[in-house]
Amino acid sequence: MQTKLPESLLQTFEGQEAEAILRSCVHCGFCLATCPTYQLTGNELDSPRGRIYLIKNALEGSPVTRITQHHLDRCLTCRSCERACPSLVQYGRLLEIGRAYVHERFTRPFPERAARNLLRLGLLNRSLFERLIKLARLVRPCLPLWLKRTVAHRSASQPVFKQNRARKMLILDGCVQPGLASGINEAARRVLDRMNLSLVSAKNSGCCGSLSLHLDAREEAFNYMRQNIDAWWPHVESGIEAIIMTASGCGVTVREYGKHLAHDPAYAERARRISELTRDISEVILAEGAVLLSAYPVLLGRHVAFHAPCTLQHGQSLRGVVEEVLVTAGAILTDVPEGHMCCGSAGAYSFFEPEMSKQLRRLRLEALQSGAPEEIVTANIGCMMHLAARAKVPVRHWIELLDDGFATLEKNVPYAMPQL
Ligand code: SF4
Ligand code: SF4
Repeated sequence: MQTKLPESLLQTFEGQEAEAILRSCVHCGFCLATCPTYQLTGNELDSPRGRIYLIKNALEGSPVTRITQHHLDRCLTCRSCERACPSLVQYGRLLEIGRAYVHERFTRPFPERAARNLLRLGLLNRSLFERLIKLARLVRPCLPLWLKRTVAHRSASQPVFKQNRARKMLILDGCVQPGLASGINEAARRVLDRMNLSLVSAKNSGCCGSLSLHLDAREEAFNYMRQNIDAWWPHVESGIEAIIMTASGCGVTVREYGKHLAHDPAYAERARRISELTRDISEVILAEGAVLLSAYPVLLGRHVAFHAPCTLQHGQSLRGVVEEVLVTAGAILTDVPEGHMCCGSAGAYSFFEPEMSKQLRRLRLEALQSGAPEEIVTANIGCMMHLAARAKVPVRHWIELLDDGFATLEKNVPYAMPQL
């Protein structure tokens, strides 16, 4: 694609990056068929190619309008289009640059700005968010069904392992996950303890920055990234093996810290190292626990459907890893048609594009439930809560299912497990 970006923009790091990405697109349109928003609306402006044109026009100096912003907002950032693109166009990165550019030149209507700021305030203040969730659980009988299910996620009923193993990895606690489903990271600690690994949390680490990125607050996002790097760095220097993510939405962001902070000389090198050390928990379990799981197939005969979050399969290119873990542990995966499609959660998308989000969830739940699974498992807190609000079967994180499998075996056959 030919471009005519102004000289002033080409002097900047992001201007050069955007030009290189735009030029790599040959407007073939292969990406259109994989785009969930294009499938729903049939409008070229809701497709990757249409959005690339919108961003190109904006960067070249055409007036930025509400229409530009509207169609960029409607993108799920699922990055399904990147997977389909024969020219390897880095659409996700271009969209981030384009959205920031549009945000600087077109002021959102006041109600939208206020809603975005309120959402950021509510979700990113961990103690406030945890208090709100506790309150919602107290008044649960009075809540609408979808909200009842959202706040109903069970907490871990088993003890948290605090073994001090020689091999250690860091774990990101995050912002909303501890309040909504603290059991996920507790299950991760127990499962990895059975594989002779300890997970440690770094004091002062917090949100990965993805929510702020989604909500027009890039500088705030970069500050969260810097804060995490500062909190993790002493552990990196003392030889931590990896930084583990149990939410794929956080994982995709932390894996890209190197790209996000490449312009910051004080953090660029450390950010790159943090990205290198970042692993989804499924990668670690497969590498460290495959032998244990083969010997003790703790999910034998369980029929489950796996919803692969876009941030896992497209954003981090981790396809089939969780599935391999579950099958090694004895689970039977039910068929899920169109497994590459987004569930419509997409960070803050379900708040601001509720109609599209609901349509996508309905389609995904039809596909996930078509094989009559006992339950649905996934790898990201956002997808989990979004699907749980309307699913006919329980929805949880796959690591909780695996942990329950181990706990059942240990309870029924206490001497079955090896003593590590
Ligand atoms: S498939 Fe890739 S090269 Fe083709 S239009 Fe889409 S983004 Fe451009
Ligand atoms: S990221 Fe997803 S929603 Fe956005 S253009 Fe690509 S395929 Fe479509």
